[in-house]
Parts: sequence; C-alpha cells; structure tokens
Amino acid sequence: KPRLLDDEEGGVLFLSSSFSSSSSGYGYASIEKQRQRLPVYKYRTSILYLVESHATTIVVGETGSGKTTQIPQYLKEAGWADGGRVIACTQPRRLAVQAVASRVAEEMGVKVGEEVGYTIRFEDISNPDATRIKFLTDGVLLREMMEDPLLTKYSVIMVDEAHERSISTDILLGLLKKIQKRRPELRLVISSATIEAKAMSDFFQSSKRRRVSEGEELRPRLEPAILSVEGRGFNVQIHYVEDPVQDYVQAAVSTVLLIHDQEPAGDILVFLTGQDDIDVAVKMLTEEARSDGKHSSGLIILPLYSGLSRAEQDLVFSPTPKGKRKVVISTNIAETSLTLEGIVYVVDSGFSKQRFYNPISDIENLVVAPISKASARQRAGRAGRLRPGKCYRLYSEEYFVNEMSAQGIPEIQRSNLVSCVIQLKALGIDNILGFDWPASPSPESMIRALEVLYSLGVLNDDAKLTSPVGFQVAEIPLEPMISKMILASNELGCSEEIITIAAVLSIQSIWFSGRGVQRELDEAKLRFAAAEGDHVTFLNIYKGFLQSGKSSQWCHRNFINYHAMKKVMEIREQLKRIALRLGIVLKSCERDTQLVRKAVTAGFFANACRLEAFSHSGMYKTIRGFQEVYIHPSSVLFRVNPKWVIYHSLVSTDRQYMRNVISIDPSWLTEAAPHFYQQQRLNPIIH
Ligand code: ADP
Ligand code: MG
Repeated sequence: KPRLLDDEEGGVLFLSSSFSSSSSGYGYASIEKQRQRLPVYKYRTSILYLVESHATTIVVGETGSGKTTQIPQYLKEAGWADGGRVIACTQPRRLAVQAVASRVAEEMGVKVGEEVGYTIRFEDISNPDATRIKFLTDGVLLREMMEDPLLTKYSVIMVDEAHERSISTDILLGLLKKIQKRRPELRLVISSATIEAKAMSDFFQSSKRRRVSEGEELRPRLEPAILSVEGRGFNVQIHYVEDPVQDYVQAAVSTVLLIHDQEPAGDILVFLTGQDDIDVAVKMLTEEARSDGKHSSGLIILPLYSGLSRAEQDLVFSPTPKGKRKVVISTNIAETSLTLEGIVYVVDSGFSKQRFYNPISDIENLVVAPISKASARQRAGRAGRLRPGKCYRLYSEEYFVNEMSAQGIPEIQRSNLVSCVIQLKALGIDNILGFDWPASPSPESMIRALEVLYSLGVLNDDAKLTSPVGFQVAEIPLEPMISKMILASNELGCSEEIITIAAVLSIQSIWFSGRGVQRELDEAKLRFAAAEGDHVTFLNIYKGFLQSGKSSQWCHRNFINYHAMKKVMEIREQLKRIALRLGIVLKSCERDTQLVRKAVTAGFFANACRLEAFSHSGMYKTIRGFQEVYIHPSSVLFRVNPKWVIYHSLVSTDRQYMRNVISIDPSWLTEAAPHFYQQQRLNPIIH
C-alpha cells in the first residue's frame, strides 16, 4: 500500500519518479511497453488504492503523462467495469473525446463502439451492452442525467481536464457532489493538468465530518485524496519577441519558416485561436512552401480544430515521415486535451478564443483574448516531451510578466447562463442561486437568464419549467433559443425549413474559408443570397446541395465545405428524430419565408437590433441594451443593412459583429415576446 504521509489533510500522497518515458525509440515499442513507460504507470497501484478507499480522487499530472488514456484502463483492469457497470471519462471537447476513445480502443485492441465507446452530441458510438469504458463530453453526461439522475450505470466517473473549468464541467462537478451523497459506492476521479487541486479538494470536502460507526469501514473516505503524478518533461527554452507583433498570424507563419530554416529536426506546434485564423495560416504556409521550394520543402502543414473530418484528425496524429517536419496549427485544444508526439517547437500567439458575457448589456460574444500565464506555461510545456525544446512566444517578456493574468476565469463566470439554468431546472434543481457551485456565477447573469427563459415561455411565474414547452425545450440538445425556434416552427408550419436552419447553425461554417479566395467566395455567396438574410440563404444552399445529388464537386464549385454539408445532413436527420418524438409535425412552408423568419424571431427575439437612423456606417443598436453592433462581412446582409434585424451570435474584433443575420418586422417582436418587449418601450423606437 502506498504511504499516506499527510493523512489529516485528506490523504495527500507524495510519490515521485523521474520522467523516463519517451526518450528513445518510442514509435517502435509495443503498445504494452509504451503504456508502461508513461509516468502514471508508476502510480497504477496507488491510483487504484485511492479510488477504492476514497469517494473522490484528484489526480494532477503533466499533459501527456497518461491520465486520460491509462486511468480508465487501470480501473477496468481492476474490475470497476465488471457486472455490466461502466467507467465514464468526460472531456470538455468533442474532438478530444473522439481522439482519446480511438487511442484507448487501439491500445486495448478493440473496435471503437464496442468495449470502448464514445458519445458526443449528435454522435453516439457506444453499445449499451458492450461498452465498458465510455468517453463523452461533460455536456453529454449532463444530458444523460435527465434520464438517469443518479447516473446509476457508472461505477466511476472521471472528470477530466478539470482545470479548464468549462461551464459544463463546473455544473457537472456541482451535480456529482450531490449524487455522491445518494450513491456512496460511486467513485469520482477528477484529473487536471495544473496544480489547483487544493481548491477542488476543498469543494469536495464534506462540510460536516461524518462519524464513522462500526461496520462502516467499507464506506469510502469522504475527504478527497490528491495524487500528483510527477514527471516533468524536458527543459523548454523560452523566446520572446522584443516588440509587440501587429499581426500574430503573419508573425506565426514567419516564425515557423525561421524555425524550419535554422533549427534541427522536430515538429512544430502553433497555437492560434480558431478555424478562421488557422485556415489562413495553413494557406499562407502552404503557398510559401510552394513558392520557396528550397526552404520550405519537407513541411507537412496541418490544421487542428474541432469540426475536422476523421481523416484530417488522423493525419495530425500520424507519425512524421523521416526527413519531414510536421507543422500543426491548432486552437488551444492541443494545450492540454490532446498529446501530439514529436513536438519540439511551440509557437504561441498568446491568444485564444474565449466566451465573454456582459449581463448588463446582455451581450455574449466570442472574443480573441489574451491567454493566462497558466495557459502560456502549458503551451510551452508541449515542446518538451521528446527532448529539450523551444517555445517562441509572440509577445514580450515584459508583457508576460506584468500583464498576463495568472489564471483564466472559469467559463461559468463569463457566459450567458440560459442553457445552464434550463438544464438545472430540468434536473429538478429549483434553487439555482443557492446551488453549490465550484465557482459561483454572478447573480446578474442568473437573473438575466431567468428573464430570457421566462420570456421564451420556458419558465413560469414560479420559475419552474412550463409544460409542455419548457420540458420540450429542455429535451432538445441545442441552445434553448434554437429549441424554441423549432417548437415555434411547428405552430407556424415551417418545421422542415427550421430544422435545416438549426442544423446549419449547429456547425461552425458551411463556407470554404481561406485568405485569397475572398472574391470568389463572395461571388459564390451571391448565387445563393436571399434578401431576407443568412438563414434563408442556408435554405437555398441546402436545396442546391440536394438538387446536385449531394455532390462534392458542386460544393467545390460553390465554395461550400462538403464535409460541413454532410454533417448538416447528419444533424438534420437526428433533429428530425427528436422532433418526431416531441410530436412535431414535419411540414414545409414552401418558400413562405415570412413564416421562417417569424419562427426565428420566436427563438431569438432577445437578439433584435435596429439600424441607427442617419448611420451611413451600418451601425446598429441592440434593442435591449443599446449596444453598438455591425453586420459581419460574411453575412449576405453586409452592406444591405435592413432596418430591423435579428442575429444568431456576436463575434468581437475591432467592433461587435453580428454573424448570421435575418431581417424582421419589429411587430413580430412584441408578438413573440410581449413581456420582453413591452409595447410602450418598443413604440417610440418603431415610430
Ligand atoms: P494526459 O491525459 O495525461 O495528458 P494522455 O493519456 O492523453 O495523457 O496521453 C498519454 C500518451 O498516450 C501520450 O503521451 C501519447 O504518447 C499517447 N497518445 C495519446 N493519444 C494518442 C493518439 N491519439 N495517438 C497516438 N498516441 C497517443
Ligand atoms: Mg488528458
């Protein structure tokens, strides 16, 4: 048995070992050997002992030490999946779920979907009879609680990447703490890449000390155990820029070329922020490699973000051929969620895409914002797995030291809480303000969310879910506003169209992107553009895609992402099934776009904006908060500027831009949400 040194503090276990994992010949070792070389392997017995004896075990360890891929396997080997029970492992990101499940299946020599399975929204690759280790997003596990509130099929739930503090992770942790009280046999493993274990441990520390009476030895200890997997990687030399860079995409591209030119072999990992800037960087580098054959030959340039196809993902993980150098350009998914072998150089833009919500203006948007010091350290750490590495930070040392915040803010404190509130309500948690959160959201955000849900007809005067609308909205696995739009379409007789729109809005973009094709892209868009706005344009594209026989050439010709369209078809099929279950009649309104726009308004009335009179710059103000917003250049309504619009989401760069915009008649607002837009308030604006 391991030594428990500091038992009073709740079973803190100190063990150490050196990081001897992957210094040589990694790629040639058998899978079993590879598994044994991982730092967590030395803790296998300790982990199993702690899980056996503690209700909650917190495992902290460097990225790549084997937490995600190994711990579920250890648990299975120790019998935690016997008797039909299942071991769950949650991830904040869909792509990580898929990647990790396929890796673990490979290590166990089984097919994904059988003994090892996974579930993400709109994709369930698991078999209730066979799956013993199940990877899933924390959001999907929350959904499972709606059918099985105590999550009875799981013996152990591993909440992975807890340091990310995603909104779903935080809700899940709060709920799991409740479940533990009812299910003493349930074990939690909380794993994290950074040392914030104490706060997590305090959260799970039972407030009342329970007296252990005789005959109760079999019960697990309630104080969480903390285990720290030692094993730092190799040294990483940090380089800073002297002066702030103007364009981090350009700077990243130049840095990659410089590394390729001057540094010995080893793959490069570049951290940018999202599909848009990553696609641009990939294109710039690819063109560079083509035009400047000598310097850039041998570069394999690959993007990494959610929404990649299977084949594209596999490329990222496959070993780099001899004499070549892989450049992976990634969102912060590669920060801690995924381990890429062979990385020796990291280029860190210093930014990531983050959600920010202002409860006063009721505006939530995705912002390219500076990362924290903790993130910067994690990013740098990715360079030191194989051998000593280098990290090129595209910001100055002075900035890192004096300006970067130490830690990020938990997502729940910077998000719109509409989805969160409805999920808790659906689980019967009525006192939301009094819920035991790992980090409390602001009361203003809570009140805003309650207000919107009330206006959507989802909550009643007692703040309980309404029947049937509230329960139906909660059951559809989409944002409540989209769900409400689907329900409204049933009454309006345009459910076929609205389900298509909901499917398109569920994916990032259906357009092909990249720098240098803007003109062609704009021309292609004109072919489908509808005067009513983007949502109706989606219907035109969908129709064209069907008429082409779902042809990839057709997509290519029209600058549409074929892979995204296939995904739209898949999601649409699933939404159809859900709609039928909810008693929604599938009906087409045959091009009566007014009905379609009314349905959109029924869900998204809170996002209504009005063009400022006399504004030649296309400035809109939100009706609710009088915030300045503009139509995004990617919208078909860019420069058209109808007087009244509703947007789907906001992105913020130099200004707040509305993405996916539709024109409306303001009278629909009071029709759809009389409480939200009292006639008196709206009247002076309309007239
Ligand atoms: P952690 O969760 O501690 O960050 P993981 O369990 O994800 O670590 O990874 C452990 C090791 O498994 C990695 O160092 C890598 O060698 C290997 N590995 C993980 N995922 C993959 C994959 N998709 N392809 C190849 N190797 C992988
Ligand atoms: Mg992991």
